[in-house]
Amino acid sequence: MTGLQKWEGLSASIQLFSRQPVFSGVVFSLTILGMLTDSLGLITLVPLLDALMGSSVSSALSVKVLAWWQALGLHPELTGILLAFIFLMALRGVVRIAKDVAATRLRAQLTDDLRNEALAALMDAEWQWLGNHKRSDQANMLLTEVQRAGSGVFAALSLLATSAAFLAYLFVAVTIEPLTTAFAAGVGGLMLMLFSKLRHKALDLGQEQLSVHRRLHENALESIGEIKLAKILGITDLQLSIFGQSVSDLRQNQIRFSLLSGISRELFQVLGAILVAAYVFVGVSYWQMPLPELLVMVFIFARLVPMLTSFQQFLHMMTNALPALQEAENTIIQARAAAEPKHDSNVATILLTKELNLIGVNMCYSNSSALALKDVTMHLPARSTTVIMGPSGSGKSTLADVLMGLLQPNRGLILIDGIRLDGPDRIRWRQSVSYVPQEIILYAGTVRDNLSRMKPDATEAEIEAALAAASAEFVYTLPQGIDTQIGDGAHGLSGGEKQRLALARGLLRRPSLLVLDEITSALDEENEARICESLVKLAGQMTIVILGHRSAFLKIADQVLHLQNGELITEAQTV
Ligand code: ADP
Ligand code: MG
Repeated sequence: MTGLQKWEGLSASIQLFSRQPVFSGVVFSLTILGMLTDSLGLITLVPLLDALMGSSVSSALSVKVLAWWQALGLHPELTGILLAFIFLMALRGVVRIAKDVAATRLRAQLTDDLRNEALAALMDAEWQWLGNHKRSDQANMLLTEVQRAGSGVFAALSLLATSAAFLAYLFVAVTIEPLTTAFAAGVGGLMLMLFSKLRHKALDLGQEQLSVHRRLHENALESIGEIKLAKILGITDLQLSIFGQSVSDLRQNQIRFSLLSGISRELFQVLGAILVAAYVFVGVSYWQMPLPELLVMVFIFARLVPMLTSFQQFLHMMTNALPALQEAENTIIQARAAAEPKHDSNVATILLTKELNLIGVNMCYSNSSALALKDVTMHLPARSTTVIMGPSGSGKSTLADVLMGLLQPNRGLILIDGIRLDGPDRIRWRQSVSYVPQEIILYAGTVRDNLSRMKPDATEAEIEAALAAASAEFVYTLPQGIDTQIGDGAHGLSGGEKQRLALARGLLRRPSLLVLDEITSALDEENEARICESLVKLAGQMTIVILGHRSAFLKIADQVLHLQNGELITEAQTV
């Protein structure tokens, strides 16, 4: 691990804490207090040991502690010391509980904020950018990595608290035994440096865990989403083995990290013990140090080594989780860099009242060199119906995305009633657009939930009108009418029913522009006829664009355009 990466983790974590400054301060203070009550409890017992052993066992320390007692106006006797000890231990217990609860809340708060922020950044990003990124990676980041980042951030907090407690302890120890303490601290620092290789390994494992998590998410989404296909093709075993491989890779990774942490922790302890032993040996055999002084030294070591061990462990945990934090932060940074222009939601939406024109529009996807749209110029009179035909891959969906203000063309103009659509206007324009895609996604919930998601304040009459306009009255015959649960895992609807419901959902917004992307390509004739019937009823109320390579809608179209390899061609040129 390079120094940079280590501090990157710490500084990224501190940045996160700074969003909850008061809360972080409370957890931090409680953590230190918890550690200090630990030491204080033990130190209280020193004069007792002294008294019990009848000699000056820990001379210097004992004198100091007695001085503290006296400063507090107390006279240490057996019961007093024992009561103080019990009080400190009880206090320690209360502090630790308070710390645990506060830390859990802080951790949840930080991860929730990170999660919400990441999703908001994704939601605000340009559609084109989103198209180039894997959904499963984003789902993994939101669900798993943010959680893991939370552990890392938490480790960073504990790391800081341990350092503070360590310094406080060092300060006290220095006042009692400066030389011994300096030696112990120096040795501890050296040990930490010696262990940097192991921390490097922890970072590698953390990085590897990120890719395993990504694969696991991808496999899970794929397996669950395509169970039907897998069953039909008889490849469920194959899917299972692919999933099983990812699961086993994750397990291996976790075991290796656990082993690494264990080795590093125990090695640290053993090395600490060896050093103490060596010091005592040299002290007794060669320097003829008095026993009391050696005992104090052992006492200081006994407190410092566990603190350093915790320090090393927290550093390990933070390093291991660093790739998860980076994943979340990188996504946020990149998505924000690709953010759509900010728009003022108070400014009125853009309505199409006269005409929609495209002039010389070129569109090239950033990950491809070919133009998806070439010099497209078209004229859509308001409230007209246009059918855009063309073979698969000819650019129909791309053209629809440009018309809807989802994609920003690389060249050319989009004019709504003669006004150029650009910047934040693209987002305002979308509020006047409804879209029925080929693959309908119904939200989990009732039919009514699905409709009101489009227009939360829709009245019963508006809902009825939209369902009637889309020839979707079948919803009233469902078991609980429009309060029937549909969507993921609920009441199934046929392809045609889904499409009519999606059309009703779209119509509820009373759009200026309605775009239907190949909605009938998977439909039977009856459903096709019903949708046609609906569109005839809608004709003249809104601008309708129907994309498809089937000719069912030709008879209701005011205009038919042909797209081929991203270019509009005249009908005579079609093959
Ligand atoms: P259609 O809807 O007519 O089938 P599309 O508009 O989906 O055609 O695609 C037009 C061309 O743009 C195709 O060559 C397709 O491969 C390409 N394309 C579509 N979407 C993307 C994308 N997100 N990234 C890169 N190329 C794309
Ligand atoms: Mg398409």
